[in-house]
Amino acid sequence: MALPTIAVPTFDVEVYSTKETVEMRPFLVKEEKLLIMASESGDKENMIRAMQQVINSCSNGKIEAEKLPFFDLQSIFIKLRSQSIGNESEFNLICGECGHKTPTTLNLDDIKLNISPEHTNKIMITDDIGVIMKYPTSDILANEDMPIFDLVVSCVDKIFTQDEIHDSSDYTTEEMEDYVDKLTSDQFEKIVEFFITAPKMFHNIEYTCPKCQAENTVVIDGVENFFG
Ligand SMILES: [Zn+2]
Repeated sequence: MALPTIAVPTFDVEVYSTKETVEMRPFLVKEEKLLIMASESGDKENMIRAMQQVINSCSNGKIEAEKLPFFDLQSIFIKLRSQSIGNESEFNLICGECGHKTPTTLNLDDIKLNISPEHTNKIMITDDIGVIMKYPTSDILANEDMPIFDLVVSCVDKIFTQDEIHDSSDYTTEEMEDYVDKLTSDQFEKIVEFFITAPKMFHNIEYTCPKCQAENTVVIDGVENFFG
């Protein structure tokens, strides 16, 4: 006889980049095992892959996590983690002066999506030629060593003038590289600004080290803080 089916509660998650609301279930023991294994490896790429896999499973395939921008991946994972094992994460703050460890409890709901007011995905590179940028996917960011030039090439979505729109997917990588190669340094910097001002998930913790009294500011933005 089949064992009884265990019903799992669901909850809604908003995906910022697509403005969609997706129903998800909490992660289960099998997924928690996967996350613990990735966390113990200490490897960022492994952790990102595990986050992607768990989000795909818990959204029942409705989210394609590999294609999400990194901030959406983080934001959805935090929500999922809060719903599954609670919204508190315990870890040590390490003093920048003396290295003293101070245990702390972080409320994951405090990690917010920060959006810079001057951020735009539409960048004019001359008076009449502009580019529309797309966010790097979490897959691209799993590759930490990607040079900024390659990042720009892979994130140009469209190139437009007053009368034409060119979709980057209609061109080869070589053609796009060649186009970016011909930008002036100022034009290139304008495009790089898109990545600098892109939405980011983070939370600052300010505290005084109990051992040496140094004032510390710790930026919590790494995937490693979300697992434990
Ligand atoms: Zn200290």
